[in-house]
Amino acid sequence: MQSSTLIIGAGVSGLAAARTLSDANHPVMLIDKGRGVGGRAATRKLGDRKAPRGRWDHGTQFATFRSSALLKTLERWGALQHMTPWHPSPDGLDRHMSPEGFNAFAKDLAQGLTLHNSLRIASLTRATDGWTVKAESGETFSATHLISTLPAPQLLDLLRDSELDLPACEALRAIHYHRNLTLMAELDGPSGLEPPGCLRPESGLLKLIVDNTLKGISGAHTVTAQATPEFSLEWYDRDRATAASVLRAALQEVMASPISNVQIHGWKFAEAVHRHPEPFLDLCTGFRAAGDGFMAGDEEVSPEHHARIESAILSGIAVANATLKHGS
Ligand SMILES: Cc1cc2nc3c(=O)[nH]c(=O)nc-3n(C[C@H](O)[C@H](O)[C@H](O)COP(=O)(O)OP(=O)(O)OC[C@H]3O[C@@H](n4cnc5c(N)ncnc54)[C@H](O)[C@@H]3O)c2cc1C
Repeated sequence: MQSSTLIIGAGVSGLAAARTLSDANHPVMLIDKGRGVGGRAATRKLGDRKAPRGRWDHGTQFATFRSSALLKTLERWGALQHMTPWHPSPDGLDRHMSPEGFNAFAKDLAQGLTLHNSLRIASLTRATDGWTVKAESGETFSATHLISTLPAPQLLDLLRDSELDLPACEALRAIHYHRNLTLMAELDGPSGLEPPGCLRPESGLLKLIVDNTLKGISGAHTVTAQATPEFSLEWYDRDRATAASVLRAALQEVMASPISNVQIHGWKFAEAVHRHPEPFLDLCTGFRAAGDGFMAGDEEVSPEHHARIESAILSGIAVANATLKHGS
């Protein structure tokens, strides 16, 4: 039987793994619980979905790429076609963003791949020649190899529900993430921020404020405001409407125009802050884990400045190459 790989999670890491396997003509399928691809590379639209009045990047704001080899690969995959430089990072690197919202990058990465959306994988079972996964809906899928790109705590839940107690779980338990509450605000007029539309307050409840109009992704006056890790942790499980009004008041203090509407989104696993020191993890025969919880390509970079999208992509490429090289 020809070997095949099933990837759980169609964020940038899973997509990069799938493109790498697909380049080698290795049969690969992605499954994601979300309605679309991209995971935390997320964009919300305002108004009509096909012709939105505005947008918010409410997950990733931009990506920096330190590796010129990776940039070439992304170019070859057609993943940079909608990307354009925003303001450079302090170390002079381009901050890549998309005028159609950062999710356009993930959609371009997904071109040509076999993908099942809106399916939450609920359990995994070892089969004689590989693995079978079962979705909450009851559908099952089989493959020789399995790759998970879920945030480590979600993978641990899946392993527990599958009654798979693997020695590698110890390494997964050491991976930690910050939470993030993100406010999406609509304003009656300009925000008053200076170009390029990015403010990092030194104190208060907000750690990053982005004017999506100045950034060039929104026709309407929309602002994304990320709460600090401390506020996000304290408020994550509390009433969201109250959290939104507290953050709205904090944002209004620095906005030049009145805020007319807000939405709030909670990211339980926003940014990996304590990562596994290797690009991926062998969990057991034919089963590997990758994603932004793994250190790939940025070992020398301080934790606050590591390129998270780049690292997640490099982790995906590394786990795919290991699957091609070593099989099980
Ligand atoms: C608010 C915020 C701001 C950020 N800003 C930046 C930034 O500016 N620059 C930067 O480089 N990085 C940034 N990041 C981090 C970056 O978004 C992540 O590092 C990167 O997107 C992780 O990609 P991934 O593929 O590893 O994981 P994910 O994108 O989380 O992909 C995992 C996928 O698994 C799916 N999934 C989970 N459980 C299941 C299941 N049981 N069955 C099926 N599917 C499942 C999810 O739907 C998801 O699509 C930010 C993150 C957040 C939340």
